[in-house]
Amino acid sequence: MCGIVGYLGHRDAYPILIKGLKRLEYRGYDSAGVALINDNGDMNIYKAKGKVVDLENVCSDKNISGCVGIAHTRWATHGEPSAINAHPHYSESKNLAIIHNGIIENYAQIKKNLISKGVHFVSETDTEVLVQLIEYIQVHKKLDLLTSVQVALRQVIGAYAIALLDKRNPNQIIAARKASPLVIGIGDNEFFLGSDASPIIEYTDKVVYLDDENIAVMRLGEDLQVTNIDNVKLNPDVQTVDIDLGQIEKGGFPHFMLKEIFEQPECLRNCMRGRISKKGVVLSAITDHREQLANAKRFIIVACGTSWHAGLIGKQLLETFCRIPVEVEYASEFRYRNPVVGPDDVVIAISQSGETADTLAAIKLAKEKGAFIYGICNAIGSSIARATDTGTYIHVGPEIGVASTKAFTGQVTVLLLLSLALAKERQTISCEEYNKVVKYLLKVPEAMKEVLKVNKRVADLSRIFTYAHNFLYLGRGYSYPVALEGALKLKEISYIHAEGYPAAEMKHGPIALIDSDMPVVVIATHNEMYEKILSNIQEIKARKGKVIAIVTKDDEVISKIADEVIELPDTLECLEPLLATIPLQLLAYHVAVCKGKNVDQPRNLAKSVTVE
Ligand code: GLU
Repeated sequence: MCGIVGYLGHRDAYPILIKGLKRLEYRGYDSAGVALINDNGDMNIYKAKGKVVDLENVCSDKNISGCVGIAHTRWATHGEPSAINAHPHYSESKNLAIIHNGIIENYAQIKKNLISKGVHFVSETDTEVLVQLIEYIQVHKKLDLLTSVQVALRQVIGAYAIALLDKRNPNQIIAARKASPLVIGIGDNEFFLGSDASPIIEYTDKVVYLDDENIAVMRLGEDLQVTNIDNVKLNPDVQTVDIDLGQIEKGGFPHFMLKEIFEQPECLRNCMRGRISKKGVVLSAITDHREQLANAKRFIIVACGTSWHAGLIGKQLLETFCRIPVEVEYASEFRYRNPVVGPDDVVIAISQSGETADTLAAIKLAKEKGAFIYGICNAIGSSIARATDTGTYIHVGPEIGVASTKAFTGQVTVLLLLSLALAKERQTISCEEYNKVVKYLLKVPEAMKEVLKVNKRVADLSRIFTYAHNFLYLGRGYSYPVALEGALKLKEISYIHAEGYPAAEMKHGPIALIDSDMPVVVIATHNEMYEKILSNIQEIKARKGKVIAIVTKDDEVISKIADEVIELPDTLECLEPLLATIPLQLLAYHVAVCKGKNVDQPRNLAKSVTVE
């Protein structure tokens, strides 16, 4: 999901590539690499785990000459971050080199096929499978490189932005994309390539944004040639860009947090990609560890902060669908209180960064006591990913904003997939129910897009509420953890005190706080708890509290009582957290912006909490 840079022309490629990678650093990554073809026709590939400076260190005593090259920063999805798994990847003959952003979903099948035909693999990546497939087609079908790429891409399921070098044809780069970004810069008899325009705009303002399944051939001395995967010739649409760097990095959004909120539909698709087939939900963790997971006597979820809120939703999902008792613990509490945990338990550790110190310590303790550990992380190859027995990555891409948004919905999605897959194994869910949840889950990304349309309205609304010193968030059932998460978001970035409560608990204390200055956000969607939550809203209004209600579309009852209403598309109750969270993220974001706060880097907070 990270960065691609390419250059073909008359200048030294290496400095342009390194500078380009640095410009793409904001996307987050775990390793980097570069391939260069020099004047002698040799192709050199250098790679390093870590940052671009680590790659520069590796290259410091190497031959970095050449006017053609491709470079990559990797955010691992298949295979841990390491120099071997870093891109570029050679084909077996070492004639071809590829860089790739995205995920090849059917890589395992293709790899198996190629191995049976004698192809030898070096890395664990899905990317290497693609370059080997292209070469296999080229050699065995005796096709030129462009046609081989077209044939290969017709077999591929998934997302890709790729760039390909051929040592035997040093004046050419072939690039293609589907569902991952790729921009070509056109200079004076030179070409540039980037995941966005940031590595390019210093040199040229003429760019071509490739469309899905388009393949570009850049050749020195020739015009850019674009075809689709069926070899239909296309006219490249050359545009003039007039944007500054900061704008590009944030994809045109003023802050990373807003960008990441808006990325959620795509993130959810990435999270589910390759995991829902015609046969239903397939998680390799369950295929590989069926015994331990399906026969667990109890689940203990350990996490901190936002991940802990995702865990509370996970508890409801697992208990509802799998009928296994679940406890949700703050990792920091669990680790210090000699918890009762043993070999019959499965501990689920949730952490975006995979480096959260308390969660890591909780895992170690549970492991010592014999529990089986399942991890849910975003960062591939992170400490938690390595310390667990198995797990599932959320695949939402790097999260830069300190306040977590897309990682939360990714975590909930993985917990949902896990619950469904286990429920099927344990036969605790009817076929009908299972199919219904899967069907609606697949519709969630589109529904999220619908929800994001409330952005403008939430922005207007936020202005009214910047005066508040306190906020209350209420929800029931699946919406209770959403209320907690909404309150946490507001606290984190706007520094307004906020508390989340199960709505019915309000009368046991917090109701004393309600007066005409108190905004109360109530998640009041149309589900089994509707009548109850309606009464809670009446109680707040009777005390003149200001109610901001999150309701299901076309709710005519609450819209008459509440001060402000935000509508969500109708969905299943268990999927509501994925939608209801979004307006709360937006509310926190806009209130903080109105108050002039540093949204992406709130005071006193860090992205990855590696201290206890
Ligand atoms: N799926 C590829 C890998 O894991 C590419 C990841 C990326 O987009 O950086 O190597």
